[in-house]
Amino acid sequence: MIFKSPHYCIFVQNKSGMNTTEQVEKILADTNLSTELQNIAHKVLHGERITFDEGVHLYEHAELGYLGVLANFIREQKHGDKTYFNRNFHLEPTNLCVYDCKFCSYSRLIKQKEEGWALTMEQMLDIVKKYDGEPVTEVHIVGGVLPQYDVAFYSALFTAIKQHRPDLHVKALTPVEYHYIFKKAKIDYATGMRLMKEAGLESIPGGGAEIFHPEIREQIAKDKCTGQQWLDIHEEWHKLGMRSNATMLYGHIEKYWHRVDHMEKLRELQDRTGGFQTFIPLKFRNQHNQMSNVPESSVIEDLRNYAIARIYMDNFDHIKAYWAMISRETAQLSLNYGVDDIDGTLDDTTKIYSMAGAEEQTPAMSTKELVNLIKQVGRKAIERDTLYNVVTDFEHVIFEEEKKPQYYKLPVVN
Ligand code: SF4
Repeated sequence: MIFKSPHYCIFVQNKSGMNTTEQVEKILADTNLSTELQNIAHKVLHGERITFDEGVHLYEHAELGYLGVLANFIREQKHGDKTYFNRNFHLEPTNLCVYDCKFCSYSRLIKQKEEGWALTMEQMLDIVKKYDGEPVTEVHIVGGVLPQYDVAFYSALFTAIKQHRPDLHVKALTPVEYHYIFKKAKIDYATGMRLMKEAGLESIPGGGAEIFHPEIREQIAKDKCTGQQWLDIHEEWHKLGMRSNATMLYGHIEKYWHRVDHMEKLRELQDRTGGFQTFIPLKFRNQHNQMSNVPESSVIEDLRNYAIARIYMDNFDHIKAYWAMISRETAQLSLNYGVDDIDGTLDDTTKIYSMAGAEEQTPAMSTKELVNLIKQVGRKAIERDTLYNVVTDFEHVIFEEEKKPQYYKLPVVN
């Protein structure tokens, strides 16, 4: 499969015959290319950072083929053909929420509680115990915000999970939940994050970031933590020597410069702390939410966005695509546009993507399927743990017939 643009071809299987440096040099030799795009290509080739204005210029003027060459050059400089995934499951305590984000297809307000679920501590631990003996390395805990899930509750949950299974990495909650529960407990962010760490929290996922700029945030997610509060909580966590991820919800009512502003704030914080591992652009999906009138971005725009993220976020090690959100095929394509991580096996334990209209309505892949997905497009599949330590290099692994994954079904939502 080939993407053709007026100037460059990006081969999905990376078989252009030129190495990535030669591909960038070909761009630099192109006399038809604008001076601005030449300058950006020159910076990328020499490992220099691009500016805010150059980021906006890429969004406004760069075509997919050009972006793919630059992003793939950076991706292969950092990781070669390695493509990461992990074996994980989600634990979603509730989809009831005190907030009412316009883009959210997942949450139900408390007044609609018959349409949702709210798990007890015992039910959550039962889900964790379903994975006893399974080779998962991470539990990813995220959901709605409810008053009864407070500092004491989450501390007890993290501690109980670690006591039951010390080798399971607890990646949990976002600054949206932390801001809410710390405010309720009348403790500052530094104290709160220290308590969470002592309870067993090991890393923070990237959610809740949406778009930081208040011009957009106030329209789509006005009551929850601000962009600055989101950044402050991650900074406190990083000060404890801990790691986290970052996301950006794109493709709705934001302008290109809002995306660059968002990435700029993350890049600045990363310069100070170095605590982020992965940047995850999240595609806005328009099913079953209050923004269903807003069209979704095209696959071409999704790939351009991954590529620009890879070029702009020079101090982030990894760019991740959630295969469950963008489809398996787009996830494969994204591996040539800067992405080096396509997330986990999931085991049908999350409804966040399917309720927003993602193609994957029961997102689960066996390890064999994930590895094959990566190998089909000429990349090397590496199972990682949450902190990117290599668990298994699948380059030479031959699979025996796998036993069927044991699904733990979430409650049915009407
Ligand atoms: S995005 Fe999160 S905070 Fe906002 S309504 Fe949905 S679950 Fe609640």
